[in-house]
Amino acid sequence: MSAGCSVRCPQRILAFVIWISFVIPHSGFIICAMIRCGIGYDIHRFVEGRKLVLGGVEIPYSRGLEGHSDADVLAHAIADALLGAISAGDIGQHFPDTDKSIRGISSIEILKRVNELLAQKSARVVNIDATLLAEEPKFAPHVEAMRKVIADALGTSDSNISVKATTNERLGPIGRGEGIAAMAVATVEVE
Ligand SMILES: [Zn+2]
Repeated sequence: MSAGCSVRCPQRILAFVIWISFVIPHSGFIICAMIRCGIGYDIHRFVEGRKLVLGGVEIPYSRGLEGHSDADVLAHAIADALLGAISAGDIGQHFPDTDKSIRGISSIEILKRVNELLAQKSARVVNIDATLLAEEPKFAPHVEAMRKVIADALGTSDSNISVKATTNERLGPIGRGEGIAAMAVATVEVE
């Protein structure tokens, strides 16, 4: 090894370390991070005399959804998708309808608790895509508010939360207007 190299090599190594420590965090590539996905589905029946709450947003309508909690079918599908992504069971295990302490609970509170479970597993939400299925009411005027409330509960940006809605083309119980269903896919990053 020449005398010149013995002086320059430590400098090159230092320069490389500085370069790599800058490039990796800014390249979108995170060492040791693992991407996982989960799927969620839920359905609730319409009943008279209850508020309709979807994605934490109260929607003016003549009927609400039946359930032990506020019956927020959208939040439930998202919670199940998140639990699935970290292999932590399902919403029924964590929030059973036999638990009187959570009777009437806001499902946004359920999402916050699921987010705490994610944090315990060093996981965080990357993005969520959810779809509501119902013949009525119209959800479009409320979608932006739902995205914001869900994002706040999960400690992420509303740009990471997608909420869509479609009808069931008048087919089956959803098509007959007997209830609302929701499905969701969640992607999480685990460090
Ligand atoms: Zn439910």
